[in-house]
Amino acid sequence: MPQRMERAIIIGAGITGMAISAQLSQAKIHHVVVGTPPPNQAPKLGESMEMLSSVILDEMFPDLHEHFVAKRGIFFYTHKAVMGANLNLARTLHPRVDIVSIGGVSAFLLGLVGYRRPRLGAIHVDRIGFDAALERKMRASAYCTVVEAQVADVIYDAAADRITRLRLDDGRELEARYVFDASNQARVVPKALGLECRPLSDGTQRVTFAHYRATGESRTPATIAAHKNWALSSNVVRLFDPVDGVHGVGWCIPIGDYVSMGISRPADRALLDEDALALLERAMAERGIRYRQVYPDLAGTQTIETRFFVHDRVCGNNWILAGQTGCQGWFSTLTGVESSLFCASIADKLIESPERASRVYRQYIDAVVETHKGFTTFHASTVETPLAVVERRYHYTLVADLYRRLTYQAQLCNGRIAALLARFERVFLKIWIWLGKVAAKDRFCPLVVAEPAAFAQLVAHARELGQAEVAPADEARADADAPPSAALASIRAAIEAKADLLASVRLSPSLTVRIDGSPIGGLAAWRALLRRGEPRVTGVTMIAEKVEDRGGGALRIYARFHGRVDGEDRSSPMAVFDGAVDGDAIVALSTARHHLTFLLGNNARYRILFGLTRVSLALGARAGS
Ligand SMILES: Cc1cc2nc3c(=O)[nH]c(=O)nc-3n(C[C@H](O)[C@H](O)[C@H](O)COP(=O)(O)OP(=O)(O)OC[C@H]3O[C@@H](n4cnc5c(N)ncnc54)[C@H](O)[C@@H]3O)c2cc1C
Repeated sequence: MPQRMERAIIIGAGITGMAISAQLSQAKIHHVVVGTPPPNQAPKLGESMEMLSSVILDEMFPDLHEHFVAKRGIFFYTHKAVMGANLNLARTLHPRVDIVSIGGVSAFLLGLVGYRRPRLGAIHVDRIGFDAALERKMRASAYCTVVEAQVADVIYDAAADRITRLRLDDGRELEARYVFDASNQARVVPKALGLECRPLSDGTQRVTFAHYRATGESRTPATIAAHKNWALSSNVVRLFDPVDGVHGVGWCIPIGDYVSMGISRPADRALLDEDALALLERAMAERGIRYRQVYPDLAGTQTIETRFFVHDRVCGNNWILAGQTGCQGWFSTLTGVESSLFCASIADKLIESPERASRVYRQYIDAVVETHKGFTTFHASTVETPLAVVERRYHYTLVADLYRRLTYQAQLCNGRIAALLARFERVFLKIWIWLGKVAAKDRFCPLVVAEPAAFAQLVAHARELGQAEVAPADEARADADAPPSAALASIRAAIEAKADLLASVRLSPSLTVRIDGSPIGGLAAWRALLRRGEPRVTGVTMIAEKVEDRGGGALRIYARFHGRVDGEDRSSPMAVFDGAVDGDAIVALSTARHHLTFLLGNNARYRILFGLTRVSLALGARAGS
């Protein structure tokens, strides 16, 4: 029997499907996820993030930061040189690149289109822990129904370009309001609709990947310091037949107490998976990446086959090919999870105004294809290819494409001014590169090429200038023996009951409130903040979802604001508050202003003229008291 209610439907429960579900739940849109989340023990692909994916993860999941590891940059190795892409957003990587460095312009380019710097900068993700947390969120959501079945058939109205129903392998049928195809290589919708699929390379790649774990003694601050050349970054290594015994590309992604290693090579070469991993270990060691010294214990291997393609159509009137279902390029472009998260971050917009969101998503996919092409030079190079050829193509690709890809999400998600500036930024990037080529000539080098011998000094230099080598420990520092305060107990009870925190926990009359580090006043200012709101937002409640006891009365609260916006139930993204409690009351609250966007709106007044917002809060506090 067909179910008569039309729902948004997500095909596939991998990271793409679950991230889309998280966004729809946050937008209070009822949806169905069809599929079974993959098991969370085996190594997974998609652990190293680009700038856009780091920004989106930071914004969408501030409560899951424990699964993120800060990295300094990405290093690309050939057999005789290392190129480094600085992603730390702090300073330049090397004096040679002062004129036009990624480090110099990146924070500016991010800010211009409305992003704030992600708390950890660019990151690696512990996908085992992160995916498990995403699955828990998905299953706990009141807006999500998980149907553990497979989509067997897609009923499509070609004239209207709409998917009307999905037939499942258990015989059920679901009426579709909108369909997100997140089935990755299975490509359920493209196959059913007969969509044109353009190959982006010849042949198939065979990928073997593994996790290696540290033991108690193998990963200490001293060993990390000794291996800092690779242990704080993503490392991509081009492997050449004449020197390495295999033609392919390898990676090394350290993620806390384990490292992800992998090798991709043409599937038609007869090479056993164990032999490929052994050659990878040797080739890495020759480039100074001796990962087994830090991570000696093999903890599982996997092999898959993959190929690169793009569909000419990635969106229809009520459907989209999400993430790698629509386009797969070289993994070293790090556009895989990025495209999934982009799609997830606009999921509600796709349902509500599909035309505009689909158009911008299509433009973004074109940019992904451009990036893939840029990387092809690196991957197709041989030992004879002049380094300058690889390097130059690579620089332009990285500088231009990394920031160009950011602008599409900004255009849809960061407000009207950012949308305008996003277009400006794309033009600016073109001019920047043109100026770089003309004015800086050979010094136009946002990346650094160094013989491996010079590499250690280069990284040491970056360390002096850039952000802290290892992100400051951010773990809960609770004293396990100390009894929780009465206020903490009330917060926990409110979380359990999903009750309004503001009605459940006492705020001290001497409360201090800080936004972005600046004091905005006391209890009256806080009440003014909630009362003031955007005129469109009413009935605000604050529902906490997690609290961390950081010891000594300090705590961190993760909460969402809920309210009615233009008459519809809406909730904010997860907001983070640092607080202090004394007895049964909260005595201090501190947050960043972007966590208050739901209350204050995302407009120029709020973002640019925050000083005025503070003044008006102070006036509101005086009027209310
Ligand atoms: C070698 C390699 C390295 C990579 N490294 C990176 C990286 O460092 N950074 C990065 O960002 N990206 C990387 N990627 C890309 C990244 O791995 C993918 O983007 C990501 O894993 C895709 O997740 P997904 O949820 O879309 O797909 P999957 O995890 O494959 O999930 C798809 C789900 O759909 C389900 N499904 C299929 N058919 C049906 C059906 N008919 N009905 C219901 N469910 C169905 C499947 O069972 C599966 O669970 C890499 C890719 C490769 C190949």
